[in-house]
Amino acid sequence: MEMKNYKRAQSLNEAYQLLSENPKNILIGGGIWLKMSNPSVNTLIDLSDLNLDQIEDLGSKIKVGAMVNLRDFEMHPSIQELGHGFLSHGVSQILGVGFRNVATIGGTIAGRYPFSDVITPLLTLKVKLIFYPTLEMSLEDYMNSKTKMNHILTHIVIEKENGKGFFKKVAKVSLEFATLNIAVFNVSKEIRIVVGARPTAPILAHEAMDFINNQNKINEEVINQTVKIMLEHTKFGSNYQASEAYRQELAKVYVKRGIKEVLSQ
Ligand SMILES: Cc1cc2nc3c(=O)[nH]c(=O)nc-3n(C[C@H](O)[C@H](O)[C@H](O)COP(=O)(O)OP(=O)(O)OC[C@H]3O[C@@H](n4cnc5c(N)ncnc54)[C@H](O)[C@@H]3O)c2cc1C
Repeated sequence: MEMKNYKRAQSLNEAYQLLSENPKNILIGGGIWLKMSNPSVNTLIDLSDLNLDQIEDLGSKIKVGAMVNLRDFEMHPSIQELGHGFLSHGVSQILGVGFRNVATIGGTIAGRYPFSDVITPLLTLKVKLIFYPTLEMSLEDYMNSKTKMNHILTHIVIEKENGKGFFKKVAKVSLEFATLNIAVFNVSKEIRIVVGARPTAPILAHEAMDFINNQNKINEEVINQTVKIMLEHTKFGSNYQASEAYRQELAKVYVKRGIKEVLSQ
């Protein structure tokens, strides 16, 4: 990557002004993805001096600064408690500790990576994104919005819900991008299902969730029907990693397994 200037912003306003000045002025989190993907940058805007590397447990919510690295996120006790550790487990699947010490949660969310082992489990939770100067939106709305965001992601706010989670990354080798990601979360008898790395972006399986959450009793037949509905309404595709049909087979197995897992004591 080539860059003309590097600036450590001293306020969010300064960072935002710089970002608005030129489409080739770019924010940097950990810089790992940028280094690989951006050939030419005018000014690289570093947010390291803005106190965005803190995780605050606010009782009913966890507020995570965008510059928190993935390792600190994974290891924080409040994050580890969520869904019996399924979110921390998802993050732990990303390369090695050295890598996760550098990559940031802000760069991860902002990038909307379809293969993300962080976004897939996070989407089963109630997550709000806070952007500077004014914008707030749910993680799901952000993932669904196709427009380029010219705001600064400052915080990710996760509602603390006392439920059980399941996350499965399917990959040919452990250091590869996911061939398929599945996350399931059960909170107060409400089941949420997310399918990621389809190979397109992770999405909530709303139709399947509506079905299972409207049943009086969940038995094998209901779970099989839920999986069927998920397959009917979720678009899968083929790429160099796997075919559409193979991904559908994987989703069938792991969504079923995930539902059973989150329903067990
Ligand atoms: C070789 C490689 C392998 C990987 N493997 C996996 C994997 O197996 N599983 C997985 O889940 N992930 C994987 N990742 C992704 C990784 O986990 C991070 O999500 C990614 O590197 C982005 O984090 P970063 O801090 O490096 O972001 P950066 O590279 O700094 O930034 C990424 C993008 O986000 C923007 N950005 C950064 N911070 C902000 C902000 N605060 N507000 C708005 N925009 C911002 C940047 O301008 C840039 O466009 C991989 C990445 C690489 C390079």
